[in-house]
Amino acid sequence: MKKSLKKYVLTTILLCSVLQILPAENRPRITIIATGGTIAGISSSPTEASYDPARLSVEVLMEQVPALNDVAQINGFQLCNVASQHMTTAIWIRLASVIDSLFSNGQCDGIVVTHGTDTMEETAFFLDLVLPHQNPVILTGAMRPSNGLGADGPANLFNAVCLAADSAAHGRGVMAVMNDYIFAAAEFTKTHTVNPQAFESPDHGPIGVIRGGKPVFFRSPRPVHTVHSRFSIRQLQQIVLPRVEVVLSYAGASSIPVEALIENGVEGIVVAGVGHGNYSLDIEKSIDRAVRCGVFVVRGSRVLRGGVTFGVESLSDSQIVSGFLSPQKARILLMLALTRYNTVEQVGELFGRYR
Ligand code: GLU
Repeated sequence: MKKSLKKYVLTTILLCSVLQILPAENRPRITIIATGGTIAGISSSPTEASYDPARLSVEVLMEQVPALNDVAQINGFQLCNVASQHMTTAIWIRLASVIDSLFSNGQCDGIVVTHGTDTMEETAFFLDLVLPHQNPVILTGAMRPSNGLGADGPANLFNAVCLAADSAAHGRGVMAVMNDYIFAAAEFTKTHTVNPQAFESPDHGPIGVIRGGKPVFFRSPRPVHTVHSRFSIRQLQQIVLPRVEVVLSYAGASSIPVEALIENGVEGIVVAGVGHGNYSLDIEKSIDRAVRCGVFVVRGSRVLRGGVTFGVESLSDSQIVSGFLSPQKARILLMLALTRYNTVEQVGELFGRYR
């Protein structure tokens, strides 16, 4: 070996070990699946509050953070480009199928999904319930558009790729990374409409943080997820998910929404009740009718912490409780439950395991 080449190789090895950078071909293979959201949004000026979400392509998101290439071998895949208030169950099924085939065919080691923040927690929970893989799947996004002052997207994307590339992330279920915090899919929710510190796990706290590109885990997520879940995307391919809707209770809430849902033939209703899953007299009457019509009802709460557990106030045998799942997450579990089970006992037992 020529002296100058030898020196170059030795210096590179030394630098890589000091900076903990692996040679390119040894870095984990991470696929970034882009779905839209504010992380791909653009405003007319850096100080303008309003903006268009879901405008940039995955290639542009990757170009904005060259340091991703020091962490992993990166590939991009544009699944869709939507604001996440427009997310649908059909997109969830496509997303889960793409992830399943990338892992099953050995095409990547970890996945980052960029996503709007409005429904990120729902997509994360759906994936957590149906992906039969131990490999990391990390959702991330941004609260500020890509060209906004103090845009948070690039740092979130970098952290998410670092987490997806880290062996410590294996077997922990689907996670989200926002503003340096790591959250378990079943546990987190959006708690601020505009601030970059927008996510929390109200009852459980984050499962870790990212520091200097390395995850520090405080604890494991709850045990029922991914490979331990009773559902698999492979069994959902030809299925239209059952129709399940959420109804909000409040002082004086009428029976109109529940009656309309019964007339429209929904298969399930989650009530986002007040307090410990309670609801108005009118809702109670219409819910009793829904149950008699064969609609599955889950009693949840609009309150951020504490969940709805068994045995408080008037809870009839014909109702299932959400546990620590938010109403929007209980809806997802009920949709999946109704693809497999048809008795209240079975669905109730399932919620007991997943809450
Ligand atoms: N509403 C848009 C969405 O959820 C933008 C919000 C965001 O991404 O932060 O995609």
